[in-house]
Amino acid sequence: MIRTMPLMGTVVSITVDAPEPAISRAFDWFREVEAVCSRFDPASELRQLPVGTATAASPILFESLSFALQLARETDGAFDPTIGSRMAARGYNRDYRTGAASEVPGSDEASFRDVVLDAGERTILITRPLTLDLGAVAKGLAVDAAARELQPFQNFCIDAGGDMYCGGVNPQGRPWRVGVRHPRDRDRLADRFEVRDCAVCTSGDYERGAHILDPRGNGAPQVASATVIGPNAMLADALATAAFVLGPARGIALLERMDVQGLLITPALEQFRTRQSAHA
Ligand code: AMP
Ligand code: MG
Repeated sequence: MIRTMPLMGTVVSITVDAPEPAISRAFDWFREVEAVCSRFDPASELRQLPVGTATAASPILFESLSFALQLARETDGAFDPTIGSRMAARGYNRDYRTGAASEVPGSDEASFRDVVLDAGERTILITRPLTLDLGAVAKGLAVDAAARELQPFQNFCIDAGGDMYCGGVNPQGRPWRVGVRHPRDRDRLADRFEVRDCAVCTSGDYERGAHILDPRGNGAPQVASATVIGPNAMLADALATAAFVLGPARGIALLERMDVQGLLITPALEQFRTRQSAHA
């Protein structure tokens, strides 16, 4: 059975043989994560964080930000969850639900170093005006939470427009087959992977235009699409975005260091793969 619902600015589809309440709970996670992590909603927990005061955070916000900051350190700031105001300055400032634009604080000097977490107290301290942006991890986090709801049913697939998790096997009893879209021809696949119990996430330049920024401002992107296969969707989602920013050489090196599989396709349609890469 396949169910679809528009959520988080995309269409989420869930394929599973499970009772209705479990499927509803899986979908609910997308609303929950969005309510906490949205950069566009002034009422979200993320937007409510004050400057200069360590503030107790929900597990969803703390875990996702903590992971994003680790990746920022790992990539020396190529991945940076404080780019919210720069995204807004580029015109990515409208709530897709209401169309409302909002003014957000921040400057180009702000970076991930201006956010301090205390894991013991589970607090977040922002040390200068900035706007957090968890757009590269939130969908993955929601997919993982939905996957946990469906774990008792073993065989399921959650697809949130570019971010997927496939549990167990497909209705034919075979590994799930996931296509990687050709970045310049929406009717073609660039590749196909067979997966079970893992996430497949893609960041492409073809869906929402140039929505991935290089905070270090290194000119034109060298990647048209980045696909990562990993044990969970938050990791794969974030690493796909990070590899996109880093470009083929450093991107593949990051993915290999993080022990995930990946495929990067350049605007000239050259393909770069991690050493270990699954194939259908
Ligand atoms: P994705 O669709 O997963 O590749 O994520 C794209 C989103 O990640 C954008 O819409 C921004 O919210 C955010 N983003 C863009 N550039 C960066 C970056 N350099 N570091 C971290 N997040 C970014
Ligand atoms: Mg991503």
